Amino acid sequence: MSEEWVNWSGSLRFTPGRLVAPRDEEAVVRLVREAAREGRKLRVVGAGHSSVPLVETTDVLMSLRAQKRVLMIDRDANRATLECGFTVAEAGRALREAGLSMHNTGDVDVQLVAGAISTGTHGTGARLPNLSWMLHGVRLVNGLGEVIDTDRERDPEFMRAAAVSLGTLGVFTAITLRLEPAFRLERREYFVPLRACLALWDDLRRENRNFDFYWYPRSPLRAESRRRAPMDRACKRLASIPRRSRWVCPTAWCSSRTCRWPFRCNASMHRRRGSRSSC
Ligand SMILES: Cc1cc2nc3c(=O)[nH]c(=O)nc-3n(C[C@H](O)[C@H](O)[C@H](O)COP(=O)(O)OP(=O)(O)OC[C@H]3O[C@@H](n4cnc5c(N)ncnc54)[C@H](O)[C@@H]3O)c2cc1C
Repeated sequence: MSEEWVNWSGSLRFTPGRLVAPRDEEAVVRLVREAAREGRKLRVVGAGHSSVPLVETTDVLMSLRAQKRVLMIDRDANRATLECGFTVAEAGRALREAGLSMHNTGDVDVQLVAGAISTGTHGTGARLPNLSWMLHGVRLVNGLGEVIDTDRERDPEFMRAAAVSLGTLGVFTAITLRLEPAFRLERREYFVPLRACLALWDDLRRENRNFDFYWYPRSPLRAESRRRAPMDRACKRLASIPRRSRWVCPTAWCSSRTCRWPFRCNASMHRRRGSRSSC
């Protein structure tokens, strides 16, 4: 019996019979065959950020966190093949060194790329596809312990199933991703009354590559946009809202309602989970 396993939020707890962390594909094959022979269920887990019991098992829980090699980079085709232990943040750094970038991320970057792809994780951006779109090819170990290596050109139907497969097709050991040449995003944040944001909602999501907002009950709103071009009309209108009504500290922990450092409050609240306001 191994220790209790708990997901990110604590909403899912169970004790797997065995927690295994194979270091290479050969070990994955051996463990899958062993589980199949013994009639045991095997589930593969990413970073444990899903809230539903996708990975729950009392048999074998497998983690590929130890497998983190970049196997192939193709700058001409904007593709790369990675082992499946990379978080989104780690993959982003490795890809940037090679001049490549994922087209988008979700709200956080601590999920594994394989986990995010397997659940159809999406980011913001009205015109951007979800992260599963990146999956060009896959190498996986199926429930019989066989290795399958294919891609969208060789087997498009299989790849459609693999793209959001919730770990049900087998254990991905390597994924080939469709990428973009590395790019920079400009990020702007505004604290504005909710009604101002909603009034500009259609323009903000149309004119920005990414746009999202958080509403804080008891206080105004944070609106955030990420874009590649100069400031657009809707952002200019947000920026033109008088400072006094725009810069009110949105932090519930802050003792003063009007904060002198709204951006720092905001950043510490949203970038570092559990950290306290700096104001
Ligand atoms: C704070 C937070 C913010 C989030 N933000 C967003 C967001 O902005 N947008 C959004 O859409 N979702 C969001 N999510 C949900 C999250 O992106 C998904 O739950 C994602 O699947 C988590 O990835 P993971 O690595 O933790 O995978 P896990 O939750 O561990 O597993 C998810 C699935 O992937 C499968 N899997 C993992 N690795 C492999 C592998 N090697 N081979 C085969 N299958 C595998 C598992 O079997 C399981 O079915 C958020 C979750 C949290 C907790």
